[in-house]
Amino acid sequence: MARYKKAYHPLSGMSLLEFQNKYGTEEACERVLFRHKWPEGYICPKCGNKTYYKVRCRRHPMLECKVCGHQESPIKGTAFENSKLPLVKLFLACFFIAETKSSISAVALAQYISVSIKTARNLLRKFRTIMIEADSHYKLSDKIVLDEGFFGAPKSGKRGRGTAKIKALFAVQYEPYKGHNVPLRIAIEKIPDFSGNSFKAFADKNVESGSILVADGYSTYNCLSKNYTVISITDTSSDEANPLKLVHLFISNVKAMFQGTFHGLGDKRVQGYFSEFAYRFNRRDSKTPIVEHLLRSCVREGYTTVPELCI
Ligand SMILES: [Zn+2]
Repeated sequence: MARYKKAYHPLSGMSLLEFQNKYGTEEACERVLFRHKWPEGYICPKCGNKTYYKVRCRRHPMLECKVCGHQESPIKGTAFENSKLPLVKLFLACFFIAETKSSISAVALAQYISVSIKTARNLLRKFRTIMIEADSHYKLSDKIVLDEGFFGAPKSGKRGRGTAKIKALFAVQYEPYKGHNVPLRIAIEKIPDFSGNSFKAFADKNVESGSILVADGYSTYNCLSKNYTVISITDTSSDEANPLKLVHLFISNVKAMFQGTFHGLGDKRVQGYFSEFAYRFNRRDSKTPIVEHLLRSCVREGYTTVPELCI
C-alpha cells in the first residue's frame, strides 16, 4: 500500500448557508435524486430505453418512457419515497445528521427542521440504517487493531468483559507513519458477548481475510488465527507508535459522543449510533462533503436494500 501522505485534518464539511443555496428548492433536490438514480442518464427500468417525456402531474415530476410509456418518478425507490415531508426538509435533515460532528439528537433535529420529535426520530433511524447499508459494502484490510468497548449504565455489578453493559468491537485499519499510526477506516459493531463466535462473525463481515490483526492479550482473539495473522501486544504504554492507543482513542471518542448528545443509551438503537460515527469518519478525507455522500447513499441504498421505514 502507498504511504500515507496526507496530513490528518479535521472534517471540511459544508456550511448551512452553502447547503441552503444549493438545495433550497424542491426542483434542486429533484435534480440530485435524478443524478444519483440515473448517473449515466435516464434508463427506463422496464425496457431500457433512454428517452423520456417529463410529466408533472403530482408533487414530484414523473418521467414517461417514450417507447413503452412506463412512468417513474426520480423519488421512487429512494429513502425519500412515501414521505409526506417536502424534499427540502428531508435534505436538511440529511445535512444535520451528516455535518454535525458529534451526532444530533431527535429533539434538536425536530427543532431545526420544524417536525415532531417522533418524525425526527424516524428520520434519524432511517438515515442511520442507510449508513449501515452503505458501509456494509466495504471491508477493512491490511493492518487492523481491535479492541472491545463497553457502553451505557451496567444492569448488574460485574466489571470488565463480564459486564452487563452494551458490548462492542472496534476495528481500526491504520498505517504507521512517522512514529505514529494514522487511522484509515473503522468498523464498530455491537456484539452479544465476547465469545469466539461473536468475534468470528464480526471479522467475517468487516475484515478481509489475510489481514494482520493486532489486539491485546485477550485469548479469544486467537480464534481468528485461521483466516488472519493475529498479533497480541501486551504493551499498554501510551506511546504514539502503540496501535492499541489508537483504538482506545476511538472508544473514548464514541463514549464522549454518547455523553454529549444522547440521554440514555437504548440497546436497540445503539448500532445506528456506532455506524453513524463510522460512516462520518470513513469519509472524512473525501473532497466531497459528507452530506453529499449521504444524499447519494439515500438514493442508492434506499433504491436497493433498505426496508421501508415510516418517515
Ligand atoms: Zn420503457
